[in-house]
Amino acid sequence: MDLDLTEEQRLLQQTAREFAEREVAPIAAKLDEEHRHPAELVARMAELGFMGVGIPEEWGGAGMDTVGYVLAIEEIARHCASTAVIMSVNNSLVCDPLNKFGTEAQKREWLIPLASGKKLGCYALSEPNAGSDAAAQKTIATVVDGGDMFELNGTKNFITNAPVADVVILYAMTDQAKGVRGISGFIIPLKGTPGLTLGPADKKMGIRGSQSCQIFLDKVRLPRTALLGEVGQGFKIAMNTLDGGRIGIAAQALGIARAALEASVKYALERESFGKPIAQHQAIQWKVADMATELDAARLLTLRAATMKDKGLRHTPESAMAKLFASEVANRAAKEAVQIFGGYGYLADYPVERNYRDAKITEIYEGTSEVQRIVIAANLLKD
Ligand SMILES: Cc1cc2nc3c(=O)[nH]c(=O)nc-3n(C[C@H](O)[C@H](O)[C@H](O)COP(=O)(O)OP(=O)(O)OC[C@H]3O[C@@H](n4cnc5c(N)ncnc54)[C@H](O)[C@@H]3O)c2cc1C
Repeated sequence: MDLDLTEEQRLLQQTAREFAEREVAPIAAKLDEEHRHPAELVARMAELGFMGVGIPEEWGGAGMDTVGYVLAIEEIARHCASTAVIMSVNNSLVCDPLNKFGTEAQKREWLIPLASGKKLGCYALSEPNAGSDAAAQKTIATVVDGGDMFELNGTKNFITNAPVADVVILYAMTDQAKGVRGISGFIIPLKGTPGLTLGPADKKMGIRGSQSCQIFLDKVRLPRTALLGEVGQGFKIAMNTLDGGRIGIAAQALGIARAALEASVKYALERESFGKPIAQHQAIQWKVADMATELDAARLLTLRAATMKDKGLRHTPESAMAKLFASEVANRAAKEAVQIFGGYGYLADYPVERNYRDAKITEIYEGTSEVQRIVIAANLLKD
């Protein structure tokens, strides 16, 4: 089906495909093996305008739209889910809220270098005891110095890009009595902020080229100018941010599912059993037919959410549906790909083994599949 893409969107997709095939694919397995952050790929993505795809050019971005962003992430995730999530976090979770809620001065200081890829950002909402229940924030920001400064204390968990990033958008409780309306967002430099320290890099099942770690805040003092948005607006900003972020993760899942399908088709045509290619066994045909059908359905859901975002429409349930479905499709596709490869699928020699490990996280971060179902149901079952 012709998706009726614009010339600009096609060009972005083509550029991302060529970059991913020529520069990402050759080192993706090694990044995974070495748990290494691909600084050289991030630098290239900066040159290509991939670190701030949807941000206006005046603020350092590429001035493209969310549909183009989805197309680019899918191409990159098809070869390396780690590289895709580094890009996704910087775009969706950092540049997007800065563009929407930042002041002129904040945009000048942070958005321009982030969207142009000169700096890298991260997003810190999760805590050791506040993941799915993100409102249960224990990181406290207390007003000090007669209201001029905040003092932050607490711990953030699993923060993607934190070990290599320059800045974090971090959420903390400024007024516990107000619940979610007592949460505020802060822009904090990760380097040279007294009292802010990082834990060791997390050791992960998959997306091993993407670094994450804890962030510890011990009497971190910040001026009021560090606030992103108004006091008490943080939870709204964090959730609005995730509406966009989930589209990026859905696109990452599309790339993983597509990699699994393409590898399966190729292998099925080459590998023989019982005197014929395994592609001629109906059991294998049905697997690839299901994988292809689900992948297309997931892509349509993802592009619908992206289109709604581009039109400025509320897209909370649509993003949740896209992320829920695409992540589950990626997991089924990767699992079936390993099965189609038989014993070889279990070895690290073929990328399907990595696809299988990488797929799992898409069902967990930016809201688990259970949380996506809660979001979708809440939208249906309201009075
Ligand atoms: C590699 C990685 C990178 C991450 N990157 C970031 C990041 O950059 N920034 C950030 O802020 N966070 C990040 N996270 C955190 C991630 O978003 C959380 O792990 C996720 O939201 C789940 O929270 P939790 O781990 O505390 O699980 P819990 O909330 O403890 O959930 C445990 C299980 O219970 C289920 N569950 C919980 N509540 C309900 C309910 N009400 N109904 C039904 N089921 C429920 C969950 O779905 C899950 O299956 C990352 C996590 C990982 C592993």
